[in-house]
Amino acid sequence: MSNLMRCKACGFVTDQGNIKDVCPACGVPAKMFEPYTHPVSLKRRKILDLHTHPVLVHFPQAFALTLFLLSCCAFFVPQTLLAMLDPTIKVLSVLLPFFVIPAIATGILDGKLRFRKVTTPLLKKKILLSLIFFITAVVLAALALSEEFLMSPTHIIFTFLTLVISLCGALLGLIGGTLLDAKFPG
Ligand SMILES: [Zn+2]
Repeated sequence: MSNLMRCKACGFVTDQGNIKDVCPACGVPAKMFEPYTHPVSLKRRKILDLHTHPVLVHFPQAFALTLFLLSCCAFFVPQTLLAMLDPTIKVLSVLLPFFVIPAIATGILDGKLRFRKVTTPLLKKKILLSLIFFITAVVLAALALSEEFLMSPTHIIFTFLTLVISLCGALLGLIGGTLLDAKFPG
């Protein structure tokens, strides 16, 4: 059984064995540590501590933003570069929905572990935004696969949707950030 300690100065929590002379996070003397009982059970914490959700959400967020930037670039580059951008955008667009699925799955698992249910106001908001993200990703894949879509009217719709999906991703990250410190006791 591990003995958790918390730094009174910065709130850093660690195992007693990890504390030497100073707090590893903020550097105050070790005497600033006090015993700490974690509000989440060890079993649930073990899964939460893998941080699968924050790690997996970075893939779709990065993909969405990359697609937006590439799609914007496509309006300004010469024909030769456009021919290279086309397959790149197609491949990224088709992969995107597949990256969203595990991200949503880990979000639901994380929410259940932290809060015991996923129907709280903020989690409902996150699920709704995730669904918009997923549906937009599927639409983007369909648009990208249409013939000669770059520089066509479809390209404008595509670029707008990549902006929508990027903003969705940013908003999801912001809500997720506010939830990081909240842990349902038990
Ligand atoms: Zn500290």
